Amino acid sequence: MKQIAVLGSTGSIGTNCLDVVESLSGSLQLAGISAHHSWEQLGSQSRRFEPRWAVVADEDLQNTVGRDAFSPKTELLFGPEAIERLASADEVDIVVAAIVGAAGLRGAWAALEAGKRVALANKETLIVAGPLVMELADRSGATLLPVDSEHSAIFQALQAGRREDVRRVVLTASGGPFRGRTAKQLGDVTPEMALAHPTWDMGAKITVDSATMMNKALEVIEAKWLFDLDVEQIEVVVHPQSIVHSMVEFVDGSVIAQMSPPDMKLPIQYALTWPERTAGISPRLNWTDTMTMEFHPPDFDAFPALKLGFEVAERGGTCGAVLNAANEVAVERFLTGTLSFNDIPRVSRAVLDTHEFDSQPTLTGLLRLDEWARKEARRWTP
Ligand code: MG
Repeated sequence: MKQIAVLGSTGSIGTNCLDVVESLSGSLQLAGISAHHSWEQLGSQSRRFEPRWAVVADEDLQNTVGRDAFSPKTELLFGPEAIERLASADEVDIVVAAIVGAAGLRGAWAALEAGKRVALANKETLIVAGPLVMELADRSGATLLPVDSEHSAIFQALQAGRREDVRRVVLTASGGPFRGRTAKQLGDVTPEMALAHPTWDMGAKITVDSATMMNKALEVIEAKWLFDLDVEQIEVVVHPQSIVHSMVEFVDGSVIAQMSPPDMKLPIQYALTWPERTAGISPRLNWTDTMTMEFHPPDFDAFPALKLGFEVAERGGTCGAVLNAANEVAVERFLTGTLSFNDIPRVSRAVLDTHEFDSQPTLTGLLRLDEWARKEARRWTP
């Protein structure tokens, strides 16, 4: 029985993960769950799975949370330190790091430090602190497995050949709801329009990131650190059907793709059962239907965020932390109506260009810059 802790269990990845754990209840058991403030939902997960621990990260809720909402078998804890304790508990075998945004770094870091298997859904961990995270995993003997569908696809496709025979990886992008539009046509995009994704059902932040293609930009950076690639070895192709989740091209010209319907349960399950595969609850492709798959080059002019991703992956150092923080604030401001859609990459560019670059930052230095970049992005005006 493998014991699983899910950090961020009430989000989109978290709830999918719990469904996977339930479907594999013969081999997986939920040991702990955490949420930022959605304590009622956390309580109902506690009653459904009876995990040993449940953590509410927002300490201000201590007097609000109703103990009755939780199973009597679950110990209720509060605050970010409790998340770190859960992530590093001896009883836990696998930590699913599914907290959205830079806030997810601490829990993932604690799990890696404790040498756990970490199913990484929080891409910010690698975007903010890629080299430090990979070095930590190396030192502690932790295993880092990608949950992001593109990176799971690359991880799976890499197993078809030797590492030194890889020529390049090709990340697929759905192109989001605004594929084919020009920069000018994107000027009056509203939050409602950006939140309607054609193929993937995800949280608000990542759905907007998908519409600006910042999500793909961040995934380029994530791929670079996770698979130790040169930026020249990474390509992005737009594939609106989201069936091919990414590809690896080997030196002989063979391209290995991983395909499945657009559903996060499969990459989550693979990270939990690896190196084994088991029948699960993920939907399957139906080959009796006619299916069309298209591939298009991305439009870097309409989606300048993508250019930023390659640039930041190339420069490394503090750039990932700054881009990520500036974008998080820009997306918040777009959703609350104080910035336009096209301002999102503009803020990110402006904050990136004015930051004090350091090629070898420490974790403390990165966290300080994260805060600085947020402040800058908050006061930025078009
Ligand atoms: Mg992805």
